[in-house]
Amino acid sequence: MKKRVLAGMRPTGRLHLGNYLGAAKGMLALQDDPDYETLFTVVDIHAITTPYDATSLQQSVRDVYLDYLAVGLDPEKSAITVQSDLADLITQLSFYFSSVMTVARMRHLPTFKDKVKQHPDYVTMALLNYPLLMAADILIYKAGMVPVGIDQEPHLEIAREVARKMNEQYGMDFPEPVRFATKGEYVPSILGEGKMSKSVEGSAIELGDDLDTIVARLKKAPTDSGKGETVPTEGGVANLLQFVELFQGEAKRREYEAAYVGEGIRYGDLKKELAEAIFAELQPIQERRRKLENNPEYVDRMMREGAERSRAIAEATVAEVREKMGLRK
Ligand code: ADP
Repeated sequence: MKKRVLAGMRPTGRLHLGNYLGAAKGMLALQDDPDYETLFTVVDIHAITTPYDATSLQQSVRDVYLDYLAVGLDPEKSAITVQSDLADLITQLSFYFSSVMTVARMRHLPTFKDKVKQHPDYVTMALLNYPLLMAADILIYKAGMVPVGIDQEPHLEIAREVARKMNEQYGMDFPEPVRFATKGEYVPSILGEGKMSKSVEGSAIELGDDLDTIVARLKKAPTDSGKGETVPTEGGVANLLQFVELFQGEAKRREYEAAYVGEGIRYGDLKKELAEAIFAELQPIQERRRKLENNPEYVDRMMREGAERSRAIAEATVAEVREKMGLRK
């Protein structure tokens, strides 16, 4: 039997290189591997766990859905859904899951603590339940493989715990989902500190950026004198070299490393070449996206079909859980 794959992204607007390299690349690799059955989703219910704008939420959902299709997720090969089309089943399952997890365990999560710091006035039950909603996203399809960035590892650990508990207490046969890692599992911020993220201003390059924008963004990446005894392993220069490796290959990175301990790196040239390499990868994605923007009926149909295909699997899982938990079927 094919192994099932589930991955989702929150509707935070256009995707950036972190989403692309850390998650989408893995989604694409698994979609094209005949050993896997792939299901992907835009998780709009997750968006309501932190402050958000209800009037623009569905536009953001569409933006991410279009980016999914533009990077090459293929509705012929993968079921691609909007989470709230299956809200009745997924939120229901996450509520059942909340009965096997303690409040103490959920409050202990580093991702929860981070969010509490970020939004001290928005510490809701929904926020505490976020990882259980994610566990439901995955386990509703009994998916065992999840292509997401390394930052999602604590949430996957929760999904594994939920699976174990549901299996032990109620005789379910949930797999313990593991992360499918890509080469870009942690894409750093171009500003030299932390990860590339939507919520950190100036940290990201977006999939829709044109060459001039990429050049302008990279200009802000901090550098040094360009030479020294050892190549930096963290900070702006280290991050630039990581981008060189991701977009121009390892050999190019080694050339720059040799230059750093030798005649010196000219960052102006490095940034220009890097910007061109990034844009070369983004350009075909942007062309596909433009075509999709002109065909909203097609996108609507794909959303509907994705939901129908996924619903059949999800209904069976929820019915099984209800029966095993002693609820009416
Ligand atoms: P963001 O962090 O920009 O809000 P999400 O939390 O919606 O993005 O993440 C969507 C997917 O992209 C997840 O699989 C996440 O692990 C991945 N991801 C996000 N940022 C990065 C990054 N800087 N490096 C690698 N993967 C990332």
